[in-house]
Amino acid sequence: MHCPFCRHSDSRVVDSRTAEDGSAIRRRRQCPNCGRRFTTIETTSLNVMKRSGAVEPFSRDKIISGVRKACQGRPVSDDDLALLAQQVEETIRSNGVAEIDAHEVGLTILGPLRELDEVAYLRFASVYQAFSSLEDFEAAIAALRVDRPDQSEESLP
Ligand SMILES: [Zn+2]
Repeated sequence: MHCPFCRHSDSRVVDSRTAEDGSAIRRRRQCPNCGRRFTTIETTSLNVMKRSGAVEPFSRDKIISGVRKACQGRPVSDDDLALLAQQVEETIRSNGVAEIDAHEVGLTILGPLRELDEVAYLRFASVYQAFSSLEDFEAAIAALRVDRPDQSEESLP
């Protein structure tokens, strides 16, 4: 690992910590040349296979920008989006796979997005699951309604 300050070709690990959820290791390093310290984060690589066959690294930012479009005009904050992207990444990483289809990423987004905002969920699902008719919307809305009575009963005191 090159030193980011002086480009020295070696560095020494002075501290090493595993993230709480075990998905990453954070190492504090010191450059023996300039003496400055920096941090590296080690995670397993996670790639997304796009429909075109192209493979690119998983990116929370791409999740956020995709979902943000569906959330236009909805009461969803940047923090909500960041949390959703984190949930999606954690769900995917917990599967222990190194590569995932873009379609699977979309399906993984649907669950937490539905919790966040039902209108945004419907918009996203209509694009992602290629709704082609009113019946597709009706079926998705009916599915939302089916789950709703249980939720409201649970939330009663
Ligand atoms: Zn250095």
